Amino acid sequence: AAKGSGRDQYRVHDEADGAVNRHRLRLLADLPGALADGQLRVHFQPQVDLTTEEQVAREALVRWEHPELGLLLPNEFVGLAEEAGLMRDLGRRVLGAVLAEAAQRGDGTAEPMVTWVNASASELDDPDFAAGVEKALADHGMPGQVLGIEITESVLMTNLSQAHQNLMRLRALGVQLAIDDFGTGYSSLSYIGQFPVDTIKIDSSFVAGLDSPMRRRESFAVVTAVISLAHLLGLRVIAEGIETRTQALILHGLGCDQGQGYLYGKPQATAG
Ligand code: C2E
Ligand code: MG
Ligand code: MG
Ligand code: MG
Repeated sequence: AAKGSGRDQYRVHDEADGAVNRHRLRLLADLPGALADGQLRVHFQPQVDLTTEEQVAREALVRWEHPELGLLLPNEFVGLAEEAGLMRDLGRRVLGAVLAEAAQRGDGTAEPMVTWVNASASELDDPDFAAGVEKALADHGMPGQVLGIEITESVLMTNLSQAHQNLMRLRALGVQLAIDDFGTGYSSLSYIGQFPVDTIKIDSSFVAGLDSPMRRRESFAVVTAVISLAHLLGLRVIAEGIETRTQALILHGLGCDQGQGYLYGKPQATAG
């Protein structure tokens, strides 16, 4: 095609959009079968104590091992599962895989190591969510202490009473609760104080900002405020997306309790 003409540029754009849409439609069509065939995998990323740098917990992150397209990341299909009404099924399969691993490792004995699982807003809106978790724990003979549930601030914006009931019931089981990606939503820390969570995860964007010349001041201010207020509320703080030694040193210096990121380990198929 002749280069530079506006019309050609639009056409190229349309083709790219068409390919993206076809990809989405294909994944949407393949997803129910993938769930039924057990194509979902769970990868695990370590979380460390920032003082000792020893692993104290791990986060479970879902992947889709597509037979033709290879390993797909959650950004490609979690939203689709949500749209297709398959989130509950996906969440239950992730939880089942996590608890099967935990049972195999013997996590329920002596000192249980927590595996954190992400739950979406729609799952917390489900009146049967906490009961489903309780049943999954019982099915695998695991105490609630082996599990943590990460929710985003968006959960606090939806059906508050339903989410609240689920969270209270989970907490009664000994399951730990965290607010994920903290600082990217609309809630304030004082509001978080009214919610039954024990942990706040500082979003990776603020962590990255700590050693970016343009964003250092702002990120430093946000991180300092989040850590001190969280501690005043009796909450634990985990920083996510730690990639550099500098970020780790600053966070530890500010009193951040735990960290997670490529500096300590990438998500892997086997849990550490
Ligand atoms: P998240 O819960 O905030 O998880 C952290 C994401 O950051 C993960 O991406 C992880 O691989 C990535 N990450 C960890 N350390 C670093 C680092 O040092 N640098 C960088 N650049 N990235 C890092 P992933 O696995 O692609 O997951 C993306 C999001 O998908 C998660 O964000 C979570 O919101 C969602 N997700 C993952 N698994 C599940 C699941 O089982 N259920 C639901 N509902 N959502 C899930
Ligand atoms: Mg998470
Ligand atoms: Mg996160
Ligand atoms: Mg995040």
